[in-house]
Order: sequence, then structure tokens, then C-alpha cells
Amino acid sequence: MKVTDHIQYGSTKINYLLEFVERKTLGIKVHPDKSVKVLAPKEVTIEKVREKVKIKASWILKQQDFFLSFHPLTPARKFVSGETHLYLGKQYRIKLHEANKNLVKLLGGYIHIYTKDTQNKARIEKELKEWYRNKAKIHFDALFKEHLPLATKLYEYTPTLQYRWMKKRWGSCDNKGGIHLNLELIKAPKKCIEYVIVHEICHLSHLNHSKAFFDLLESEYPDWKKTKDRLERLMV
Ligand SMILES: [Zn+2]
Repeated sequence: MKVTDHIQYGSTKINYLLEFVERKTLGIKVHPDKSVKVLAPKEVTIEKVREKVKIKASWILKQQDFFLSFHPLTPARKFVSGETHLYLGKQYRIKLHEANKNLVKLLGGYIHIYTKDTQNKARIEKELKEWYRNKAKIHFDALFKEHLPLATKLYEYTPTLQYRWMKKRWGSCDNKGGIHLNLELIKAPKKCIEYVIVHEICHLSHLNHSKAFFDLLESEYPDWKKTKDRLERLMV
């Protein structure tokens, strides 16, 4: 049986999906999208579950906070001249130009978009995304290279860097030395991109958010808390 339930912890409401299963103890899992799942033994009452979740509330909030979650806050974009778009932490207005060839370039404080049809929003969005991807390749690769000595110190193989558009996370690290970055990061200040890269590199040695992980992160990137806050306030 699965139910959605919640507890109140001070002023914070913690929602969770509760599932009663064949097991002996209560298990709580916090997912990268910050959702919480509670697995409870079948014979336990919902009151007892809430009591136990309350005891673990501060741990849950801490876990939710550790994930490099990405929650887009910006309203839907219209892709019209004058609209602002972010690049490396700065706002730029876009300027549309009718042209025979598609081209995007940053010049004089504007992102100029040359396109056959200035009314075709989907096309313009695609062009702009392609431009972001090309820029991301340059900046992500350079920053990753800078921190490669740390990666090779922590990991016996050469880690690989991959990037794609992600809906819910800024980055992740898999157990095969693959570091994945959200292309949306190209809209963030360089310091923030660097922080995500170092965070994920630290996962090469600890694939969790344990104390050992944070001790390592703290020593490699002492500014991480401030930078993380900055990234979370970013409206991409
Ligand atoms: Zn992490």
C-alpha cells in the first residue's frame, strides 16, 4: 500500500510517499529531486511512522539540502528581441535579425540571433541552446582540466566529463568515473560551475554526502557554501 503523507517540523512541512512493505525496520530515502520515500513494516501504524519521521526530520532536511538540485524559477521564455537571457552569470538582451543563415553571437552586450524566421520561437530556442552548448563545451572542459589533478588524486582512472540538459540537477557523478553536468550551468557564474565540478569530483572518492565527503569538499573548495547559495538563487 502506498500513501502520501506529511509531518510538520517547526515551520517546515515534509511531504513523503509512504509504502508499507515486508520489512523489519523503517527506512527513509531522500531522492535527488528532494522527494522523500518512507518504507515501513506492515504492522506499524501511521502514527508511529510520523513519530519516527519527525525524529529524522533534521536529517531529511540536511539530505535535501545536499543535493545539487536545479529548480528553474524563470517564467517561460518568449524569445523576442529585448528579452534577457543569462550567460556566465550575466544578463544579456537578445536581438533578433532576419538573415539567410542561422548564427548566434555575443557582441556589444547583446546576444545577436540571426535566423530565417524571427517569429519561429522553437527554431530560435534551438539556435540559442546550440550556442549555449558550444560555450559550455569550452568553459566546462577548461574548468574540468584545471581540477583534473584532484580527480586523478582521488580516482585511479581518468574520469570523463559529459553534459546534457537536465531537468532537476546541476550535476551528478556515477560509479564509473563519469561526471555529468547540466548544460544550464553555462548560465551561472564561473565560480558556480567550478563549485559543481569540484563537488562532483569529490564524489569520485565518496559516492554519498557523508561527513568524509564534506570534509574533502571543504578542504578542496572552502567557499562552497556561499557558492552553492549563489547557484540556488540563480534564475535561469
Ligand atoms: Zn553531491
